[in-house]
Amino acid sequence: MIIRRLNYGADLCEEIKRVCEEEKITSGWFNAVGALKKLSFGFYDQKKKKYGKIKFSKPCEIASCAGNISEIDGEVFVHAHICFADERGNVRGGHLFDSVIFACEAGIFSVAKKLKREYDKKTGLKLWK
Ligand code: ZN
Repeated sequence: MIIRRLNYGADLCEEIKRVCEEEKITSGWFNAVGALKKLSFGFYDQKKKKYGKIKFSKPCEIASCAGNISEIDGEVFVHAHICFADERGNVRGGHLFDSVIFACEAGIFSVAKKLKREYDKKTGLKLWK
């Protein structure tokens, strides 16, 4: 397991990807806690097979962030979901797109199995083979 503090002002998924590339991890799982300056997250419309994007442009706490690391066409791909809380403790969440880190601590577990993604016609998503 790799433990890292992620960089202030950086994107959470990009930071996980950067650490994985540094540590030569191509398949794994991660958890992260901390706070963000802002983010965009989404919901996958299962009928339209498209993501809807929601912006949240205020500071928030990462109540929980979990995701995995796999490969798409030979490149490290980070898939993350997030629950975050505003200043009143209201929690929202979904698929994590972009974010700006205020402070973030992450643990990344490397797994021996090679996780690769390919397009899945039924869902319209790139899922594990
Ligand atoms: Zn997702």
